[in-house]
Amino acid sequence: MLPRHAFLVWLVAQQKLLTQDRLQRFGMVQVNVCYLCGVEEEDHEHIFFQCQYSELCRSKISQWCKVELPRQHCIAWWLHWRARSTCKKKVVAMILANFMAMIWWCRNRSRVDGLMMRPEMVVSLICNEVIVRVGQCRISSRHRNTQLWLDEICNGRMVMVTTP
Ligand SMILES: [Zn+2]
Repeated sequence: MLPRHAFLVWLVAQQKLLTQDRLQRFGMVQVNVCYLCGVEEEDHEHIFFQCQYSELCRSKISQWCKVELPRQHCIAWWLHWRARSTCKKKVVAMILANFMAMIWWCRNRSRVDGLMMRPEMVVSLICNEVIVRVGQCRISSRHRNTQLWLDEICNGRMVMVTTP
């Protein structure tokens, strides 16, 4: 996991990002509306786990990596993952961290420029970045099933890019 991603995951776990619910509590914003969906109020839980925009990205990524990424705050989910193979855990942690970093980036871009990236594009970027990192870090597993899973997700790049 990249250090900047690890830091972001830590901030999310601590609920320390400057989300609108916090800014509202500090008296810095009057109205709290999610920059991603424009419907619900923004807080940590909403941005990453409940927002319809994030949910669309999350479900497509889960389909690609064949692991159901968390639908709620990740700590409980993370404990469940302790028992899994180290290699798979490392890659799934990378996927989750990339997902969070990308969603936060999209949120900030929407806030500053009012621009939204299509969820398919977000998913494509996340998948490709993870595949490149797996290659760069030469991540592999001695466990046949885990290696098959890795090969499968790394060969899934073209499928994600061409998804309508
Ligand atoms: Zn939202």
